[in-house]
Amino acid sequence: MSDHSTEYQGSATMDKITSLAKRRGFVFQSSEIYGGQNGAWDYGPLGVELKNRIARNWWKEMTQLHDDIVGLDAAILMHPRTWEASGHVENFTDPLVDCKKCKTRFRADQIPPENLAAKKCPDCGGDLTDTRKFNLMFETHIGAVEDEAGIIYLRPETAQGIYVNYKNIIQSNRMKIPFGIAQIGKAFRNEIVTKNFIFRTCEFEQMEMQFFVKPGTDVEWFNEWKKRRWAYYEKLGVRMDSLRWHQHGSGELAHYAKDAYDIEYLFPMGWKELEGIHNRSNYDLTRHTRYSGKDLQYIDQENSNERYIPFIIETSAGLTRTLLMLLCDAYDEEKVISEKNSGGSEGISGETSQETRGSADDWRTVLHFHPAVAPVTVAVLPLMKKDGLAELAQDIRSGLKEDFATDYDQAGAIGRRYRRQDEAGTPFCVTVDYESKENGTVTLRFRDSMEQIRVHKDELATRLYQEIKAYKRIK
Ligand code: ATP
Repeated sequence: MSDHSTEYQGSATMDKITSLAKRRGFVFQSSEIYGGQNGAWDYGPLGVELKNRIARNWWKEMTQLHDDIVGLDAAILMHPRTWEASGHVENFTDPLVDCKKCKTRFRADQIPPENLAAKKCPDCGGDLTDTRKFNLMFETHIGAVEDEAGIIYLRPETAQGIYVNYKNIIQSNRMKIPFGIAQIGKAFRNEIVTKNFIFRTCEFEQMEMQFFVKPGTDVEWFNEWKKRRWAYYEKLGVRMDSLRWHQHGSGELAHYAKDAYDIEYLFPMGWKELEGIHNRSNYDLTRHTRYSGKDLQYIDQENSNERYIPFIIETSAGLTRTLLMLLCDAYDEEKVISEKNSGGSEGISGETSQETRGSADDWRTVLHFHPAVAPVTVAVLPLMKKDGLAELAQDIRSGLKEDFATDYDQAGAIGRRYRRQDEAGTPFCVTVDYESKENGTVTLRFRDSMEQIRVHKDELATRLYQEIKAYKRIK
């Protein structure tokens, strides 16, 4: 599946991303003081903001901007028959092999075919065991007695919660085909290989949308959703030459799929799946009909009560994987020649001659997040703590709080504070200086261009809205 033929263009490496994420409070290892828990990660103050904003952005895209899609938040624990009907009990397995010598466990589909054929370990050359199936679902027990009857699963995907509610939603919300149901939530998989930071974890979040269509229109809708999901990433400002399509060959197609494409991203470790767009045919609702005994046919009242089991087009993205993608995509190390200051503030350039006027070897680490997902939208910085500048800056911040995610920083030289905000991906900084006291204007600094302009404080909110709406990534 991986293809390293295209060279990675960005300056991110997984090591740099992992260490920045920890240093700045995006992502921490779960239970770190106990040595960490494999496959689980905690999202710190900047990380949870970023994650929530990505989720909100996706939610807006899929529901608010589409009249024919509604939302759902289904339970993680579902009736165990769900997973028999879905095929997960039988088919949701990875092929595993173990090395008898070094004891490393591999997914058979992720080691070189020649090693698999020769049954030789790719790490130490030792003998490999036969391939066997390993089910990825986490199984636990519900109720006081740990017996067969109490077995319950942590859901391995959010999709099934949508299928089992499809009739409820038609009835309660008078939905007519074609329509979609969107859901964001946790999913759990007992993944064996969990390297590459948060790329593949045992506990993660998905953003899934299931679109119910009339059989025969499925190919058309499949192509439409491929187009829309591609356009979504473009709108988010992702480097489009780092995205590509990968069509599943017949050997790769899941048991339910009629056709499937992945959107892959060129991560530092190579091309990897970001989102799947699948034509699931009528597999899911047919199976749930059979296993539940309930009639899940759609009755088309506008078409002489024609009955059919809808086909489903699914768009399935990982929320936490999208967060990793955006961290990698936004990451840059740039040589800073000088902070541009078209605002003409004496105070700024005077104060920051060391850091921001810059020498040839002045570098900054910057995250070019789209303002719609950046953890902090605007940081307010008083040039000095004294002479009432800190109070004025706090006032300005208070005025922006209701509408924007704000930060306030008065510690250290202004240039260093800009660097800190650049590294957190804050698209706008507002600097309050002596001129602000005189005429109410402040400096508005743009993260990507480092350009600075002067704006009246009363016009800041309107200006920020305009800038967010018009945002285009420049590098
Ligand atoms: P893979 O083949 O990589 O195991 P998959 O094809 O089984 O993944 P899907 O079941 O289609 O993945 O899941 C949809 C999306 O959910 C994926 O595109 C990915 O973004 C995300 N995802 C799946 N498994 C994980 C995981 N273990 N950790 C984080 N994100 C995941």
